[in-house]
Amino acid sequence: MHSSMRLSLSLALFLVLFNFSLSYAASDPTYQSLLQCLSQSIPSQNASAILFSSNNPSYASVLQAYIRNARFNTSETPKPAIIITPTEESHVSAAVTCSQKVGFQLKVRSGGHDYEGLSYVFGKPFFILDMFNLRSISIDISNESAWVQSGATLGELYYNIWESSNVHGFPAGVCPTVGVGGHLSGAGYGTLMRKYGVSSDHIMDARIVDVNGKILDRNGMGEDLFWAIRGGGAASFGVVLAYKVKLVRVPETVTVFRVDRLLADDANATDVAYNWQSVAATTDNNLFMRMLLQPATRNRRRTVRVSIRGLYLGDANGVATLLNNDFPELGLTRENCTEMRWIDSVLWWTNIDVGTPAAVLLDRNINDADFLKRKSDYVQTPIPRDGLESLWQKMTQLGNVGLACNAYGGRMDELSATETPFSHRAGNLYKIQYSVNWDEAGNEADMNYTSQARELHEFMTQFVSKNPRRAYFNYRDIDIGTTENWSYEQGKVYGESYFTGNYERLVDVKTAVDPKNFFRNEQSIPPRT
Ligand SMILES: Cc1cc2nc3c(=O)[nH]c(=O)nc-3n(C[C@H](O)[C@H](O)[C@H](O)COP(=O)(O)OP(=O)(O)OC[C@H]3O[C@@H](n4cnc5c(N)ncnc54)[C@H](O)[C@@H]3O)c2cc1C
Repeated sequence: MHSSMRLSLSLALFLVLFNFSLSYAASDPTYQSLLQCLSQSIPSQNASAILFSSNNPSYASVLQAYIRNARFNTSETPKPAIIITPTEESHVSAAVTCSQKVGFQLKVRSGGHDYEGLSYVFGKPFFILDMFNLRSISIDISNESAWVQSGATLGELYYNIWESSNVHGFPAGVCPTVGVGGHLSGAGYGTLMRKYGVSSDHIMDARIVDVNGKILDRNGMGEDLFWAIRGGGAASFGVVLAYKVKLVRVPETVTVFRVDRLLADDANATDVAYNWQSVAATTDNNLFMRMLLQPATRNRRRTVRVSIRGLYLGDANGVATLLNNDFPELGLTRENCTEMRWIDSVLWWTNIDVGTPAAVLLDRNINDADFLKRKSDYVQTPIPRDGLESLWQKMTQLGNVGLACNAYGGRMDELSATETPFSHRAGNLYKIQYSVNWDEAGNEADMNYTSQARELHEFMTQFVSKNPRRAYFNYRDIDIGTTENWSYEQGKVYGESYFTGNYERLVDVKTAVDPKNFFRNEQSIPPRT
């Protein structure tokens, strides 16, 4: 067929579908009620432009654009009736009040990285409030601060800071496509954590839409709500429009390194893992070390790879000298180290080739969405050598689950456990992330891989924090408890794992700001009844 003819046919088909979807939307009572309500505060052509009902030809692509876990992108996954995509703050206020009027739940999505899909899946009729259009960033280097809207990604924030200054950065996550909205409201950690703490420790102000649709800044919302949205997960309290954050200083040159040891080849590998546990949490604050423990195969035999990856806020000679003193078993040499600019270390940590222009951080689709499951734990006393030996056996037996161990200590020991809702401070040596990814669709694969992660988590009970067994809120894991009735007791199960004693204050804040519990999800903070 001639290409111009093909084009005309495609255009005609598109117009037919488009008209069909418009007329369908016009006959959909939910769409009509929402549009009518929104049109009372927004001009109606603007209101219809931000709504995607399920018959809109763009509905599927808008929905899927920010699904970051393929487990929640199947035909059985519950879908929103309508996706609302605000382009102005006033649209968010209108969406909050109108969703209540129409009687639908609202799921708020910024970057869509929630590991359990709680920002875009729900078991009852719901709308998604999708924040991706609200992503402006304004950097004020003279005051070392920035306003960042919640739909921005971490990569966009890092890049914008870098464009303004090569000696400033921000302590936040390793993956550049993570959204500011979820990440900062749930704490947010990365390679600057030992020097500067978590992202939410650097929030100076915020703009939030409350349950009445009012836009409030720090003064307007008061210190209790401002406390709650810095680590307690904003989804229980309102919709964050933007955060004002304090930037931090980074040197012009930093150093990264990676040392790998395979248990099958190296009798010393268990010593490296054992000693890492106490050194990584007590060494110089300028050094962050992550230990990755991964099942591997060597000469057709299953084994475990121990990888130590590090970022040092200084030069290569400095870190080589430091670790030859503190951690000689690692055998770090100057040759293992690469000096680079801080922004390039951001790329290095996310496995992007060094030398790639930093503007790659503006790409919102660097990573494909795998099927994945994550769980977390906190380790407070080193796992003994024989414990590590038994862990290697368990990991090789299971075959697919890896552990990413992230060192605490440093600044994390200096802040009190009640300063923000994020309470995992002094006393924690490191946090474990259990991680399994797969690419086969279907229930059988899902069952196989998720049960491996659960079995390893169960096995680790003997080595990790207890009463409560702690978990990191941003590593969402519905296995630790969910709620169907939003009672204080049900919330306490996961609430104390995520926030320990701060659960009580979060419940008080919730009771004060959203007593009827409009802002809710399967693991939200319930109001006191
Ligand atoms: C590939 C990958 C890498 C990661 N790396 C790290 C890391 O290095 N460090 C780390 O700490 N975490 C990391 N995480 C976890 C990540 O921090 C959390 O999943 C975070 O909540 C994601 O934020 P988001 O806006 O992208 O997610 P979303 O799925 O959009 O939101 C997560 C939660 O926050 C709520 N929410 C989102 N926006 C708003 C808003 N504007 N107002 C109110 N509530 C809102 C949602 O409703 C949901 O409950 C990673 C996750 C993934 C998938």
